[in-house]
Amino acid sequence: MIPYGRQDINLADIDAVVAVLQSDFLTQGPVVPKFEQAVAEYCGAAHALAVNSATSALHIACMALNLGAGDWLWTTPNSFVASANCGLYCGARVDFVDIDPHTYNLCPARLAEKLEQAERVGRLPKIVVPVHFSGQPCDMASIYALGQRYGFRIIEDASHAIGGHYQNEPIGNGRYSDITVFSFHPVKIITTAEGGMAVTNHADLAQKMALYRSHGITRDSNLMTHAPDGAWYYQQVTLGFNYRMTELQAALGLSQMQRLHEFIARRRALAARYHTLLADVPVMTPWQHPSANSAWHLYVIRLKHSAQAPSRAAVFDYLRAAGIGVNLHYIPIHTQPYYAAMGFAPGDYPEAERYYAEAMSLPMFAALTDVEQNTVVNALKAVLL
Ligand SMILES: *Cc1c(COP(=O)(O)O)cnc(C)c1O
Repeated sequence: MIPYGRQDINLADIDAVVAVLQSDFLTQGPVVPKFEQAVAEYCGAAHALAVNSATSALHIACMALNLGAGDWLWTTPNSFVASANCGLYCGARVDFVDIDPHTYNLCPARLAEKLEQAERVGRLPKIVVPVHFSGQPCDMASIYALGQRYGFRIIEDASHAIGGHYQNEPIGNGRYSDITVFSFHPVKIITTAEGGMAVTNHADLAQKMALYRSHGITRDSNLMTHAPDGAWYYQQVTLGFNYRMTELQAALGLSQMQRLHEFIARRRALAARYHTLLADVPVMTPWQHPSANSAWHLYVIRLKHSAQAPSRAAVFDYLRAAGIGVNLHYIPIHTQPYYAAMGFAPGDYPEAERYYAEAMSLPMFAALTDVEQNTVVNALKAVLL
């Protein structure tokens, strides 16, 4: 099976992890801060906090922005459930903004309309979470301008997007948001097995996230209620979690960071090649906004409905049977039973639902070969032409 996404691990990656295994620290050693510094420098962000998943990063990002009961978090329905669940972890309520029909990202025009209505009834969101779907950045300038007008804070869910650029600047530089979150799950751009990171330019938010990441405990005397009792002393000053990343994971991540450029170049080349190879196939290939330079986590096509054409399910099953691990991103979050039980219903976000009815993710990962890509395209042609 050619999967839709997978990691690319080389000898240098393996050596880096083995070196940590033979060192003094398997966790809470020197490699985690090195990995954080590498990501912060790459993005042009002032602070970076490594954690055990992007889900954890989203949670502590919401906490640092004081999301709580009575607050609203808005995100896109076209994402993994974690983009919305972080609001619920904090006791807030979650609502969605429909997607742009071209980029499949949260639509700023729909956001503006919804904010206008929300202001009238006193239900403005505290946090908006735009998701850079498939690696293509959202229209952040527009979302940021609305944030300035309506007073919400912004967490970029860049789980798909490390290495991508917006307006020729790296995603994660924080020009248009408070915090940006990355995922290092094996299907993402770089991997630490499980892992995530939150980057920010705000020292106060970084300090809060550092506390929430590790039990609410500090060894910094400036954050204590009184002078330390001695060299052993620490204080728990808030309620946090154990969301720490291990040294093994950080070593893998740090090694993968050296290869980020190579990974992105390969993904961009594969995307360009799909565009060319699919030119005569009756599918819609992904559209790129001129201000975006995608990291190409996903390559999503849309199948056109017609009386003669096979159904999306039939195409999906055919490709899976042919050894092509196509996938579907995403089932709209509001249609999940857990969210439907809160009152969301089919029809609430028609653009995301129309997209879901037609979408399919083709294999896209740095280690995908041209020959494998040809196999994917030929199988697609066999079922569609
Ligand atoms: C993968 C993903 C997450 C969660 O990442 P983990 O590191 O697995 O917790 C969150 N949001 C989006 C958009 C994702 O794709």
